[in-house]
Amino acid sequence: MNVLGQVTVLPELPAALARLSDLAYNLYWSWTPQAQDLYRDLDAALWERFQHNPVRLLLELPQARLDGAAADAAYLERYRAVIADFDAYLGKTDTWAIRHAPQLAPVAYFSMEYGFHESLPIYSGGLGVLAGDHCKSASDLGLPFTAVGLLFHQGYFRQMLNRDGWQEEAYDELDLTTLPLRPARTPAGEEARVSVQIGSREVHVRVWELLIGRIRVLLLDTNVPGNSPEDRKLTARLYGGNQELRFQQYVLLGVAGLRALRVLEVPAQVYHMNEGHAALLGLERVRELVGGGLDFRTATEAVAASTLFTTHTPVPAGNDAFAYDLVDRYLPEWPGLLGTTRDDLYALARHDQQWDGHWVPTFSMTVFALAMSRAANGVSELHGEVSRDMWKFLYPGAEAAEVPIGHVTNGAHNLTFTSQAMRDLLSAVLPGDWTERLEDEAMWEAVERLSDAQLAGVQRDMKREMVAFVRARVREQGLRNGASAADLAATDGLLSEDALTIGFARRFATYKRATLLFRDRERLARILNDPQRPVQFVFAGKAHPADNPGKAFIQEIYRMSQLPEFRGRIVILENYDMNVARHLVQGVDIWLNNPRRPLEASGTSGMKASFNGAPNFSILDGWWREGYDGTNGWPIGEEREYADLNVQDEADAHSLYQTLEREIVPSYYGDQAGWARTVRRAIRTVSPRFSMQRQVIDYVRQYYVPLGERGATLSAGNAARARQVAEWKVWVRGQWPHTSLSASADLPATARPGQTVEVRAQVQPAGIRPEDLRVEAVLKRGDDVTRFPLERQGDGSYRAAVPLPGSGLYTVGVRMLPVIEGLSHGLEAGLIRWA
Ligand SMILES: *Cc1c(COP(=O)(O)O)cnc(C)c1O
Repeated sequence: MNVLGQVTVLPELPAALARLSDLAYNLYWSWTPQAQDLYRDLDAALWERFQHNPVRLLLELPQARLDGAAADAAYLERYRAVIADFDAYLGKTDTWAIRHAPQLAPVAYFSMEYGFHESLPIYSGGLGVLAGDHCKSASDLGLPFTAVGLLFHQGYFRQMLNRDGWQEEAYDELDLTTLPLRPARTPAGEEARVSVQIGSREVHVRVWELLIGRIRVLLLDTNVPGNSPEDRKLTARLYGGNQELRFQQYVLLGVAGLRALRVLEVPAQVYHMNEGHAALLGLERVRELVGGGLDFRTATEAVAASTLFTTHTPVPAGNDAFAYDLVDRYLPEWPGLLGTTRDDLYALARHDQQWDGHWVPTFSMTVFALAMSRAANGVSELHGEVSRDMWKFLYPGAEAAEVPIGHVTNGAHNLTFTSQAMRDLLSAVLPGDWTERLEDEAMWEAVERLSDAQLAGVQRDMKREMVAFVRARVREQGLRNGASAADLAATDGLLSEDALTIGFARRFATYKRATLLFRDRERLARILNDPQRPVQFVFAGKAHPADNPGKAFIQEIYRMSQLPEFRGRIVILENYDMNVARHLVQGVDIWLNNPRRPLEASGTSGMKASFNGAPNFSILDGWWREGYDGTNGWPIGEEREYADLNVQDEADAHSLYQTLEREIVPSYYGDQAGWARTVRRAIRTVSPRFSMQRQVIDYVRQYYVPLGERGATLSAGNAARARQVAEWKVWVRGQWPHTSLSASADLPATARPGQTVEVRAQVQPAGIRPEDLRVEAVLKRGDDVTRFPLERQGDGSYRAAVPLPGSGLYTVGVRMLPVIEGLSHGLEAGLIRWA
């Protein structure tokens, strides 16, 4: 048939259950198992078939079933309780934000992917789930917050493993009208549409709205009449295309995303770019201001002042960068729109890289994001350090330690991943409002009151559910692949409900070393097949469709799982998604993570397992380097760098086996009290410190509030301060070649801690006012950098008696840099002169 359009007709909800529709359209249910149960209990088979999507369930349900539920007193009672909680949540007026950050300006958050729930597959892995969780906690805390992303109508992909264990990808066209989404409407009640010029084409974009508790997510969709067939596919797949498609998706996210906020009149004063994908947001914000009469540099200062950039990628190659001629094709009119030149614009994104043996200038999304923000952060302490080191070339003359990239360690949304059984158990010892104070470490001490038997009981039930889930999934896969009757029957014997169970699930990027466990197969077989103390593993994870080495890892694990010595004890599940993730983090005894340090920027799945009492067993990388305290799980390997990857793999595998054999297995089977102690420590220490709530609070305090204030200061009075800063930067760069600095110091060969040394400098400041010059001694010991200001003397020279802080080998230098009020950090002008 010739399709004119679609219309969603929800069944007539009986008056007694009228709110089931409201609730279905707010992803509040995604972290509220009791709300999900209301739908599941209407029809469990439909619930499973449609990926736990309540809107679809209501559409498919026969009217009689609804009428039946409306006459069921027990159901009605549960319904009323859930709706009362939902209304209380939405109507809460004394939120954390109101009590602790009343001055916070509205935040707009931009991310390429979001993981909210399995029924909305617009995420690929950790980055997306993190963004989804961020939105959920922003809602929980009551922040003024709106998120922007793309609505991929074929999602990422559905993963199937064929008979040989090779990953195959399927792309299902989502039926948007059956998802908990609605067209976003302007204040005038019109469906929101925006358009954006990409190269020579005008691309039309429809805007959808997703409710996440108290906040909104706006999702852009180019699959609309009026666009060419190619343009309709711009939002088909996440990370699906080549460089060309990617860049156009970035134009959509940044430029059309901002226009969507504007057309919907969403207030926004602080802008958070989650990863470099969102960097082109800066273009559109600058264009707005230039259109309002500001010059390019002033507009850039004003925009950057209120922008935060979060980087997630610890390897240079993982950072998107594009050839200049590609950018020319899609952004030809932008230098003109911004009142600047192509050279000046591209300079803000320039990263010279070796491509095919040649050095070429590239347009780097990360470099551009750093240029368009005045605050940036990595996602764990170690990742902050790695990022400062990686990007220090952008700050010539600066030490890595001073590169203005901080860190906020990631967290996970506790309630999304904690089982109802564990929540009930926690509710027995935690205060009534515990779900609103998740970051409160002292509150969590009450977990010590849970008895060994209580924990073991809940964990036994969760494991039983997980084992049943795994068997059903493997059976389904076997049926699809034409497995024999004997093989299908054997799925009932997969995994034991009593054996120590270890989970490993994540994207199959090769640095995550999913096959490390198999380095010494004989040793592994001995561990798994100990008749008294058996051990078993569940794996899951997707490889990017273009990542054949990652797919080979999946296949290797699949093949291992078919070997006689591992059969039934090693299982790999297909189609890792948030549903599989929840089952695994809730049902296993231990969570394993063995990335190649320091490539795991943070990692979050181990946090989710710890929330459910499954301690983390991991390389001391990312969050675990901060989270491990000697009592709440186990480390793998050492905190060191390796020059030889093979040596690193060997050392880490050895450590993994040894800790399993000597500590974990004996404790699990031989020392119930000791085991329960570790479980309590995992729950109690990880839940608050790695809650998404703590993470979002850190963002508010460290970044959102200060950026809101700085942005307001620079923008006030037609951006007077921004103009001053912009003009000063141009001027001071002109002065700089005419400055000079010479210095001397009386350095003894050896000294005592605390002893001072005399440092002197002579400065030729050109036209720069003395108060705008910072002249300082820099003491370096290893990676530690201490700065000590030199004072200007009556004769114009500078000096200081610099104390040597402690013992060690110091290098001493003197430098100067220009600094004025209104800058966010001393490296902003990009000028440092060393003597
Ligand atoms: C939490 C989660 C991830 C991220 O796990 P990492 O440990 O950070 O690799 C990926 N995918 C899904 C579905 C998740 O729930």
